[in-house]
Amino acid sequence: MYAYLQSLLQQRQQSALYRSRQIHNSSQTPILQIDGQNYLAFCSNDYLGLASHPRLKAALQQGTEKYAVGSGASHLVTGHSQAHHALEKELAAYTGRERALLFSTGYMANLGIVTSLLGRHDAVFLDKLNHASLVDAALLSRAKIERYPHNNMQALERLLEKSQAQHKLIITDGVFSMDGDVSKLPEMVELAKTYQAWIMVDDAHGLGVLGNTGRGTLEKYGLGENDVPILMGTLGKAFGVFGAFVAGSELLIETLIQTARSYIYTTALPPALAEAARASLIVAEEEAWRRQHLHELIKHFRLAAADFPLMPSITPIQPILLGSSEKALAVSSALYEQNILVTAIRPPTVPQGTARLRITLSALHDKHQVDELIEALKEVLNV
Ligand SMILES: *Cc1c(COP(=O)(O)O)cnc(C)c1O
Repeated sequence: MYAYLQSLLQQRQQSALYRSRQIHNSSQTPILQIDGQNYLAFCSNDYLGLASHPRLKAALQQGTEKYAVGSGASHLVTGHSQAHHALEKELAAYTGRERALLFSTGYMANLGIVTSLLGRHDAVFLDKLNHASLVDAALLSRAKIERYPHNNMQALERLLEKSQAQHKLIITDGVFSMDGDVSKLPEMVELAKTYQAWIMVDDAHGLGVLGNTGRGTLEKYGLGENDVPILMGTLGKAFGVFGAFVAGSELLIETLIQTARSYIYTTALPPALAEAARASLIVAEEEAWRRQHLHELIKHFRLAAADFPLMPSITPIQPILLGSSEKALAVSSALYEQNILVTAIRPPTVPQGTARLRITLSALHDKHQVDELIEALKEVLNV
């Protein structure tokens, strides 16, 4: 076995695909301390800067005092506390749906939803750039997997047209996690109606950020439950906590409670995290300046970065396309030398030949820090 593992790792190293972890020793903010030095980071998904918010920390502490640390059991045994239940009600209200169901992570939510709804006589339609958890969910469901090129609605229509499957489910990211662009939801909803397909949106990167009130990609497009009956969101990104949920009708949620294996056969999220997420929903609503400031930073960055190979994106995910993994790593290391942290994203996370710097902005950055990044990029990229 070890000889085999050695050769696997060597291959990764030779093709500049080896990954290693940075150990930071500081609060989750744009300034991260690594080996005693401060780095200005543009890597986190904490888009609203809520992970370090005092009200969330206080809610977590009070939740721990009241409920203990662990939840003790799965939701269907004795793990389902009032904190979880209240959060589910608040998530349902937040998304304007009948009900919501908490999962421990977004990855597990996706596995649970898709495997509950589909079986071997069904088909699932995925964008080539959908998140890995959606691909794994589709594989695990045993439905026929139909993948179309990124955002190509004609290709999706051709696949839907010729599908003989009993049930058809279209699944898309609301905002694509490594590209930052937004899915073509209105067209997709029309196709779903025409071809009697169901539709599910994973809005991990849209919720809290897009739309006038931060309700995500659906709000941006003015779409509701009639258009998109299955909405999945995470609590570990813009909401700054941990966990995930699906929101939809009473029938959908009851079905998932009865059948979603990644819901049933796992320990419930610690209740204190549910309390922190409840606080987060309130703060995300009350402190609308966070979203406004974030969108100003995005505009500011795009104007200043116009000469870089920027990818089209209106979201806090602002990738710079570099091509080879070697180049992406070299640029990331050169920035690191200047105490700026931006992760190089390489295959298989993104397609071959599209390695990139994935820059993410947060409400905790200021314009000055964005300018610092721009100056460093100019020097490193030679533009
Ligand atoms: C992060 C992410 C997930 C997984 O969510 P976790 O709660 O981190 O497991 C699922 N889908 C998308 C699009 C994501 O970006």
